[in-house]
Amino acid sequence: MPKIDLRSRLFLSHLFVMGVGLASFILISKVYSPRQFVLQLERLEPMPFFNVRSVRTYLVEGFETTWNRSTFWSVLVGGTAAGALSYWVAQRITEPLTQMRCITQKFAAGNLDRRMAKSEIPELNQLSASFNRMADSIEGIEQRRRELVSDMTHELRTPLTVVRGYLEEMAEGRIEPSPEIYQQLARETRRLERLVNDLQELSKAETGYLTIDPQPLDAYPLLKSLVERFSEQLLEDGAVLKLDCPANLPPVLADRDRTEQILVNLIGNAMQYTPSGSIVVRAWRGADRIWFAIVDTGIGISPQDLPHIFERFWRAEPSRSRNSGGTGIGLAITRRLVELQGGKIKAKSQLGEGSEFRFYLPLA
Ligand code: ADP
Repeated sequence: MPKIDLRSRLFLSHLFVMGVGLASFILISKVYSPRQFVLQLERLEPMPFFNVRSVRTYLVEGFETTWNRSTFWSVLVGGTAAGALSYWVAQRITEPLTQMRCITQKFAAGNLDRRMAKSEIPELNQLSASFNRMADSIEGIEQRRRELVSDMTHELRTPLTVVRGYLEEMAEGRIEPSPEIYQQLARETRRLERLVNDLQELSKAETGYLTIDPQPLDAYPLLKSLVERFSEQLLEDGAVLKLDCPANLPPVLADRDRTEQILVNLIGNAMQYTPSGSIVVRAWRGADRIWFAIVDTGIGISPQDLPHIFERFWRAEPSRSRNSGGTGIGLAITRRLVELQGGKIKAKSQLGEGSEFRFYLPLA
């Protein structure tokens, strides 16, 4: 059946209701009224009339009675049919709206799994579809929020347990305080601090509260200054950091601070996981975008780990990178920052040979 939009449906149903009213009126006046009038006349026939005046009085009375009766039936039949039809049409149109009200009330009460059924009216169908999309997105956010809270408590517990353990043992005199223990305690507290900062950043990025101010941005000077800054931190016998980017690259449309944050995370990771060899920061022009890549010859990531690296709190070899201070949040934030600026990020890696993190940002 072809789908009729709401406006035509309302218009047609009004016409139809009016038609039913008129049809019953016409039918009654055409079929019922003349017969009634003939009956009235037949009743007059046996009466002896002497003048036009008395005939007229009877005829007018007969006409009035007929008119009143047919009007009464027209109003009754037409009104009932039109009223019942209007009620039916109104019911069909408001039914999905009532259903939506019920579902939103359930949503407010925390029951997020109800969805709107399809409607045969296109406008209401679109409304149902966008309502369902909104419901899916709210359910997703709620799910991520729950996961975040549970991951977060798990991550906070480890350093807290270490700190409490040392403090209790020192208080009971079971171990002697020493500079190493104090350093260990300071390390754990720094870890907690970093975790809290990263979490704040992640939650802002995930809930969309992070301010992104895209402006035309020249990538070359930014990459050059970052490479210079990071080169100072490299060890004599460690990896070398190189820049491979044309100076005349067209500007990207991106937030300067957020782009710097992305690059700092990726170059920082590459430096952490590349004991020797090279790290190359590359940028080149695509059709409607600028590509960036950070390529290292470091320890690499195994194929079974690769799909998880952008998940928050995920680290390859958790205990080792936890000790080295990694929170496993860096890449989750990085991906979100790239996506918030209209780009995408992906990673390629070979265990023992190196990794490449590649992302793009739109041209200004
Ligand atoms: P972390 O704070 O632990 O570095 P990230 O989210 O930045 O957290 O990275 C997640 C994990 O991905 C790291 O623990 C590490 O195992 C792996 N990883 C990230 N970058 C690289 C890289 N360049 N080389 C090898 N492994 C990497």
